[in-house]
Amino acid sequence: MQQERYNALLQSIPAHCKLIAVSKTKSVQDIQALYKLGQRDFGENKVQELLGKKDHLPADVRWHMIGNLQRNKVKYLTDFIHLIHSVESSKLLKEISKQAVKSNNNIAVLLQVKIAREESKEGMSVTELEPLLQDFDNGKYPNIIIKGLMGMATFTEDEAIVSEEFARLREIRDGLQQAHPYLEELSMGMSGDYSLAIEQGSTMLRIGSLLFGARDY
Ligand SMILES: *Cc1c(COP(=O)(O)O)cnc(C)c1O
Repeated sequence: MQQERYNALLQSIPAHCKLIAVSKTKSVQDIQALYKLGQRDFGENKVQELLGKKDHLPADVRWHMIGNLQRNKVKYLTDFIHLIHSVESSKLLKEISKQAVKSNNNIAVLLQVKIAREESKEGMSVTELEPLLQDFDNGKYPNIIIKGLMGMATFTEDEAIVSEEFARLREIRDGLQQAHPYLEELSMGMSGDYSLAIEQGSTMLRIGSLLFGARDY
């Protein structure tokens, strides 16, 4: 991506909203090119791929884990991960906490909420979130910092559906925030729907193809 296009994208994003460049399937060179334009936050969805790239890139890159995370791979992330967006069970949170204690780090996470109609999309329901946050407040997950919620909208051209799902995530966050004021971040919005996500109060956009071009798997 060229500097002018990158700057234009940044200018279309409000100041309270952070751009996470989703670099999955893209090369170290592609990431370096965007780094040179000033981008520091990068997101990956596979632990192995993230680790393979990390060592070839500057140490001030902030790495975000945005994909389905297996519990047995958490230990590879604890030393450096900036934010794990995709915590979709108390079991996974427990393991992150355990590994964080072991490595003597605090690890920041978002809780992934299921807002899409599609069965394929991961995430917790509000009825699962409430007891988890209660347990967290009672100290059940040491060395964890919960920063907010993450969600993915249904993959559809129908903007009304997407907007409604983002609005629902925001309402869930607003509702829970009264008892749990640390729930500040809302990670929602991708290349195809980021404007709608901004309208609904997103604070973190996870954008891949718009920055790097289409992925070929
Ligand atoms: C791939 C991916 C993105 C980015 O998708 P684009 O449509 O390329 O912007 C965002 N979030 C998650 C969880 C992803 O897996």
